Amino acid sequence: MFDAGTGCLVVVGAQWGDEGKGKLVDVLAERADVVVRYQGGANAGHTVVIGDSQFILRQIPSGILHPGVVCVVGNGVVLEPETFFGELDELAKRGIDTTGRIWVSDRAHLVLPYHKLLDLASEKSQKLGTTGRGIGPAYEDKYGRRGIRVTDLRRLECARAMLAERVERANRLLELMGSVERASFEEHLALLERLAPRLVPLSADAGLIVHRAVREGRRVLLEGAQGSLLDVDHGTYPYVTSSNTTAGGAAVGAGIGPTLIHHVLGVVKAYTTRVGNGPLPTEAPGPEGEQLRQLGGEFGAVTGRPRRCGWFDATVVRYAARVNGLTGLAVTKLDVLDSFAEIPVCIGYSLPDGLCDEMPAEVELLGQVRPRYDVLPGWQRPTGSARRLSELPDEARAYLDRLEALSGVPVRYVSVGTRRDQIIEVAGGEG
Ligand code: GDP
Repeated sequence: MFDAGTGCLVVVGAQWGDEGKGKLVDVLAERADVVVRYQGGANAGHTVVIGDSQFILRQIPSGILHPGVVCVVGNGVVLEPETFFGELDELAKRGIDTTGRIWVSDRAHLVLPYHKLLDLASEKSQKLGTTGRGIGPAYEDKYGRRGIRVTDLRRLECARAMLAERVERANRLLELMGSVERASFEEHLALLERLAPRLVPLSADAGLIVHRAVREGRRVLLEGAQGSLLDVDHGTYPYVTSSNTTAGGAAVGAGIGPTLIHHVLGVVKAYTTRVGNGPLPTEAPGPEGEQLRQLGGEFGAVTGRPRRCGWFDATVVRYAARVNGLTGLAVTKLDVLDSFAEIPVCIGYSLPDGLCDEMPAEVELLGQVRPRYDVLPGWQRPTGSARRLSELPDEARAYLDRLEALSGVPVRYVSVGTRRDQIIEVAGGEG
């Protein structure tokens, strides 16, 4: 996708997250000049395996693992500064030099400890399955126009006054929610005073950096966190995240206009998983679901929570193709299906009063649909060493052809293992 010259490519998850975007971004970042995180907070962990080391990056774009690649945390991100600096320190410990390669948008909002207290208190009553890291309340403050932004750290005196008001408000809310926890103004102030000297030098007009890079013909990769079905507008509301994970959010969250984006790559697992609450029509709750979970290592990268597992759902991916304007698909974890004799693929849904082939807006309705399956033969052979489509078993190729036909989007990459080299790049030009 980056081969035919230059371009600005968005990589989005086209299911409920954890599709393996981290690995795809890692592979593509090798050819990128700039990698940008455009939304989300420290709840989404990208797991990247290099040799024997495993990196989990929550705030820093995984492109940082490639020497020379410039990484940007966009304005659409909510930044948890301690996680961010923890990751920078960990990278330094592992010998990865980040000097001059990481920028944080001065318009990004901060996630502070009081956001976490509010998140935990509200999760007790609302039970949306959040990770409790304060992301939702930080976005609420952003849209409520009372957020504290990176740029505010440039003027600590102003930040101090804002902070006093925000902490007081948070404590009133905590009391209303029946929580015994309280945020401390002094602790928050000390945190900002400690962070400012480190964060301010890394802050910049990130949109300008990205805009210039694209205009200068450099290869820019915009990486999303979570998946399309968790988008606050297009996802299975209210069981969603607090930001726009889809490609439109990439333009807003990176600080560029949509006309600068050339390609949108949707990452999908060869099956489906979901963390947290909310409907998952193709969920396989029995031994097959457990088999997918064990073989795919389907446990949250950050929380360790077991993921719910099921079959590939073409209704979901068709929908994601539409709302993102996908120009290509990357199918990951094909190898996880290696041992199955038969593999069901959901081609659409049924409701008592007829067929339903589009994603319903009502989460209750999605909870009532019954998947209609085509059952495809498995290949029952390992695929992990294939580096071209022609090296895959016929049944695996037929499976991919079916996913492509059902989704209406060409398959550009197939991932067949956790390692960086375990990838098939499908010829066929720009996606
Ligand atoms: P992300 O947030 O979309 O990057 O997804 P996660 O990092 O949470 O989950 C992806 C997991 O799947 C990581 O542990 C990856 O190492 C692993 N993974 C990615 N691609 C493949 C693949 O093709 N096969 C297998 N078996 N594992 C993969």
